[in-house]
Amino acid sequence: MKYEIVIGLETHVELNTKSKIFCSCGGHSSAKEANDCVCPACCGMPGMLPVMNKRVVELAATAGLMLNCNINKYSTFDKKNYYYPDLPCAYQITQLNHPICTNGHITIKTKDTEREIRIKQIHMEEDAGKLVHEGNFSYVDFNRTSVPLIEIVTQPDFRSADEVLTYLRKLKSMFQSSGISECETGAMRCDINISVRPEGSSEYGVRTEVKNMSSFELIEKAINYEAQRHIDAIEYETEELIQETRRFDEATGKTFAMRNKETEADYRYFPDPNLMPIVIDDAWLEKIKANKPIILDERENLYREVGIGEKEIAMLLSNHVLMKLLDDTVQAGADLKTASSWILTDLIGLLKRKNIALTADTIAPAKLARIIELVAKSVITRATGKKLLDVVVEKDVDPDEYRIANKLDMQQDSGLLENAVRKVLQENETMVAEYKAGKEKVFQALIGATMKELKGKAEPSAVVEALRKALLR
Ligand code: ADP
Ligand code: MG
Ligand code: ZN
Repeated sequence: MKYEIVIGLETHVELNTKSKIFCSCGGHSSAKEANDCVCPACCGMPGMLPVMNKRVVELAATAGLMLNCNINKYSTFDKKNYYYPDLPCAYQITQLNHPICTNGHITIKTKDTEREIRIKQIHMEEDAGKLVHEGNFSYVDFNRTSVPLIEIVTQPDFRSADEVLTYLRKLKSMFQSSGISECETGAMRCDINISVRPEGSSEYGVRTEVKNMSSFELIEKAINYEAQRHIDAIEYETEELIQETRRFDEATGKTFAMRNKETEADYRYFPDPNLMPIVIDDAWLEKIKANKPIILDERENLYREVGIGEKEIAMLLSNHVLMKLLDDTVQAGADLKTASSWILTDLIGLLKRKNIALTADTIAPAKLARIIELVAKSVITRATGKKLLDVVVEKDVDPDEYRIANKLDMQQDSGLLENAVRKVLQENETMVAEYKAGKEKVFQALIGATMKELKGKAEPSAVVEALRKALLR
């Protein structure tokens, strides 16, 4: 029998804030050693109270906007109780009953499919600390306790590992480009819920959950292993499938059941009496919206509208550094389509040849915009523009200073160009008359003739300009 794989994801993303979610300690990325970024509050000292970090609400709502969610005016925090040494309060503050965002969706496109993934909810919560085991000792590092997280929960809408990875890459690119999260290794962690069912069936099968996966490569392996285990269990009755939480073992490439199986009741969730409900009024929501988070689907449409190719669009959408450089170059005055071609063809080509990775510092957007302008205004030829780009990337010179110092400007020997134009017009009187009578088409032929006269050593746009000028006389 053929089986369909069904997957739902719960993705934790560490937010890019200056301080933790309920205290003023810096995030753990600023820590130099263990327990560097801790205070009585995030260490769970008796009597310490949480104070909500406003920025967390804004970033969570921004994520919700990007995922087409309802941003709930009213949301609350709950305590999720469990005992573990990396959790100093013995409870985690999270949102169970009234999460900040609900009912969103995102479209993903893989090689074979296009699918809308429904987002069930996004909630805010705090991270736990880290245990470090050395020989007979275990140590605990609280730098990560209370670091803000959002958890994005999808409906069981994925049908393959490929779709899951495409979704995760899209999330990553969205969050990086909008500054919600750096999404470095470990800052994006998934719980993967998997079940299988006979193809065509409309009922879900028994699901298992593979916890805490962060490497894309391992996520793919875990999904494929777990799906096959389910299929074998059903098809060959190798084992009985039960709803349980499992871990993926990198060494063996297999999943195994975790011993403890908490249910919701075991966590004794209850509303956190120390935190006021979060109320997002219209004015605040408008302010959050005004920061214009990059909505990737809108970007995609815009790129398509100006005529950027599909391959190039895919390149841009999957790389926030490219997208940002393009954005900033356009901000600096360049045309979107032209700039995209300079970046995706010329700049990327150059970097590949020199084996340099693209970073935020590869080229100042203003300098790139200036090179594009110099070519557009025919101050330099396209070929010279490419050379200039090379030098600017290599030595970070000023494009104008460099082109003047090195006399890169086009042979502006207007005498030469004008003579050629004059000659062509004299030799082609009929065409000139036709043009003046309104037959626009002959203009192309006149350009061709002038280019030929100049043996191609001129920028077409300059020829056009000179011709138009001469014909006006
Ligand atoms: P719970 O309340 O038990 O945590 P949820 O409804 O929140 O369950 O679902 C948790 C995750 O499991 C969601 O991402 C959801 O899409 C996914 N999920 C639910 N049922 C299935 C299933 N049969 N197969 C795969 N994933 C599932
Ligand atoms: Mg759940
Ligand atoms: Zn603290």
